[in-house]
Amino acid sequence: MVHEDTICAIATPPGPGGIGIVRVSGPSAVPLCERLVRLRCGGTLAQVRSHRLQLADIFGCADPQAARGSESGRPGVSRLTPSPLDTGLVTVMRGPHSYTGEDVVELQCHGGPLLLRRICESLMAIGVRLAEPGEFTKRAFLNGRLDLTQAEGVLDTIQARTEASLRVAQELMRGRLSSEVEVVQASLIRLLAQIEAGIDFVEEDIAFVTPEEVTNALAAALRGVNKLLDSWEAGRLLREGTKVVLVGKPNVGKSSLLNALLKADRAIVTPIPGTTRDVLEETIAIEGIPIRLVDTAGVRETLDPVELEGVRRTRQSIDDADVVLVVLDGSAPLDDDDRRVVEQSGTRRRVFVMNKADCAHRWSDEARTVLQSDPPQAAIVTTSARTGLGIEVLRRAIVQSLPRGMEAAQEVFVTRLRHREALGRAREALLHAQDAVADRLSSEFVAMDLRAAVSTLGELLGEVTTDDLLDRIFSEFCIGK
Ligand code: GDP
Repeated sequence: MVHEDTICAIATPPGPGGIGIVRVSGPSAVPLCERLVRLRCGGTLAQVRSHRLQLADIFGCADPQAARGSESGRPGVSRLTPSPLDTGLVTVMRGPHSYTGEDVVELQCHGGPLLLRRICESLMAIGVRLAEPGEFTKRAFLNGRLDLTQAEGVLDTIQARTEASLRVAQELMRGRLSSEVEVVQASLIRLLAQIEAGIDFVEEDIAFVTPEEVTNALAAALRGVNKLLDSWEAGRLLREGTKVVLVGKPNVGKSSLLNALLKADRAIVTPIPGTTRDVLEETIAIEGIPIRLVDTAGVRETLDPVELEGVRRTRQSIDDADVVLVVLDGSAPLDDDDRRVVEQSGTRRRVFVMNKADCAHRWSDEARTVLQSDPPQAAIVTTSARTGLGIEVLRRAIVQSLPRGMEAAQEVFVTRLRHREALGRAREALLHAQDAVADRLSSEFVAMDLRAAVSTLGELLGEVTTDDLLDRIFSEFCIGK
């Protein structure tokens, strides 16, 4: 795909910085930048070697607005600023060996927002268009430099906030998921070709593949797809963050525990019951895994309308939680409000936290038995939010309550819903194909299901896309990527 226009954007984050980069990509990137750049070594951008840094003075348009409005839109040399806007390093990266696959010029300047804006405005004045969010990566995809999952991996890499999410994002960007999907897809294409050849030669009664071979190939493909689907839960938690919700009746120390976990005093901690009325969320990393900690209003019987709304949201948070921390006051006997929380969180992965361990303990053995007998089995951790006792144990218990395999560095993870849905549909099609073989239906039916599976996997890789899908994916990017 050849784009006619040339785009530019500031590629570095907004605000002052050591270095600021303006990126230009498109068929006219070199000749247009040539107008603003004077190489210190002499010569022109058209002559320089690709992928080499060049020291250069970078000029701007003296009056960018007027230049853009002028008939030709092409300022002459005289309309450049009399002195350079900046001196920096310029790199030409000639297509197709560039990020976008097109000619790319990067102007590395001092990282002042005004300066970078002036350079972009000058480029726009001579006919370069400001890039849309993610447009560089979209061009890379449309020019075949990346498949769609890799482009998504670029986005996830930029957005990753913890070690483990960065690791899975980079695997996606490097094409780990695509290569696994491609292996399955290629095996199905081979099988489909053999089955279709059999259909073409049905009169001659020639079989290109035995029913047993079809069964084995389908089973192998299903194993591949199922393996990927099995990684979804852990993959999603790694990309989106694991939602860990603190619940418990008022005043048991939920906000204090959240603070202890954050090691920062952001939640409102007060001795008056029922003051954490809204839901508060903070993200931390435990063993590199992103954990979204959510504090909630205390769950207890109440008639106060404001508190009732808080309690309703708490129930919602429990339903949305990946892990529930059931916080109980170890210095007071287990009561009906506690039992209600234990009951409400019964269907979730959870950890029981017996807080206020610095106070005299008032728990009977019976209370522990209630927790331990309550399925599913959950760890009971003793903490003091006040002294910090048990907080490390609690951090470990949170990680241990998560699905297995999240720390496995070598695994491929399915991290995006789009991928999971496509794999789910491919799985359905393969199961249909298996049924068709088992029911000894005509090969045409098996071929039809195989075609569906192949095209669904192709959708995942971005072989077939709609503008709508691309807009949705690339609009999540920042400008300049
Ligand atoms: P929440 O309503 O469950 O969020 O409870 P808070 O975190 O607001 O704490 C309620 C009260 O219990 C505050 O006075 C805290 O200082 C106190 N508190 C919280 N954790 C502990 C603890 O581990 N030990 C002791 N002694 N007091 C605590």
